[in-house]
Amino acid sequence: MKCPKCNSDLTSVVRHKLNMNYCPSCKGMWLEQQELGELEDEAFDIGDDAKGTLAFSTTPTSTKCPECNSPLQKFNYRFYDLEMELCPNQHGYWLDEDEDNRVLELMKQEEKDVKRKVLAEDQWNRTLNRLRSGSFLSKLRNLFR
Ligand SMILES: [Zn+2]
Ligand SMILES: [Zn+2]
Repeated sequence: MKCPKCNSDLTSVVRHKLNMNYCPSCKGMWLEQQELGELEDEAFDIGDDAKGTLAFSTTPTSTKCPECNSPLQKFNYRFYDLEMELCPNQHGYWLDEDEDNRVLELMKQEEKDVKRKVLAEDQWNRTLNRLRSGSFLSKLRNLFR
């Protein structure tokens, strides 16, 4: 397989416990469809539904898919300020140098956000339950007896 950016031969390397096709000269990498999901799960396994839309809108580029030669489509990864390319025939994703680390960083941030949301909802539910239980109100009434 050739690098879509600089035409060097891609080599198979293990990064983040994943076997991926890596370009030794421009340090980009080609991830198959499910490998991007597996990379995200290294940082945060919340299931695909909770992750939301991966690619919202795409624009064609002059880079070609290393598998089918179709022009790769540029997109912003999960609405973040991180640009990646994907094959319109679902062969995979092209990530430039270090973008795999950006994905992991973003997923870790996402994990914190979701945990914060869950925690806040939990506290709110407990407050509601205490109000509904009546003990709070009866204590108040006892004060004025
Ligand atoms: Zn390259
Ligand atoms: Zn393709």
